[in-house]
Amino acid sequence: MISGKNKEAGKDPHYFALLECMDNDGCMVCRLLERQVERIIDSLRYEKIDDFEVRRSIHQSGGFCREHALQVLEKGDPLVHAIIYSRLFEQKAEALRLEVNLIRRRGHRNRGKRLESSGGFREDGVPGCLICQAERELEKRVLPLIPIFFAQDEAFRDAFKVSGHLCVPHLEAVFAYSKAHSEVKDIISVQIEKYAILANHLREIERKFDYRYCGEASCEEERKAWKLAVALWTGN
Ligand SMILES: [Zn+2]
Ligand SMILES: [Zn+2]
Repeated sequence: MISGKNKEAGKDPHYFALLECMDNDGCMVCRLLERQVERIIDSLRYEKIDDFEVRRSIHQSGGFCREHALQVLEKGDPLVHAIIYSRLFEQKAEALRLEVNLIRRRGHRNRGKRLESSGGFREDGVPGCLICQAERELEKRVLPLIPIFFAQDEAFRDAFKVSGHLCVPHLEAVFAYSKAHSEVKDIISVQIEKYAILANHLREIERKFDYRYCGEASCEEERKAWKLAVALWTGN
């Protein structure tokens, strides 16, 4: 049995969140993750950065990945950055000093080997970006629920048919989580149809670049198809 199968769809906290994320412009799971990341960054800036445990886990995890570091940077908050990066650079300087001392003790023979093998940026064994981890945890909770909501709840099913999407990475993940269960085939069939329609719109864009057909009108879906294609292919 899929976890959560007997839950009433409307009572699950992720049910309405997913409905709200069906906007026809991209994948609903990617949208949900974007919202979650925004919430994490806001709560970090407004309260959690004052929490000793939160600071410690950011420092122990080696800071944020490039994508999430840039998102935090966009908020333009010097104090938050000072708190996060002061300790990270102190840790890094300490670690590099140890490496350099080790090389000195070993002599010229092994010079540079350990610095290369450490990858230069992150220490071995650190858990990595905490925001990435939160995204993976949310994906794990939500992806198996999607085919269940689709199978059991008419409002969810109708909303998905009209304005829902799953990107290729998330559709494949839904399939991987739920492939042993019959619920999954229906939502995948609906999304396959949507990919086929998208491919037709893209073919129309190609065709209308020919001077013989360039005067033909395009529908709104067709005009947006090239951007939707990137969102649904890459999952962003
Ligand atoms: Zn996605
Ligand atoms: Zn990250």
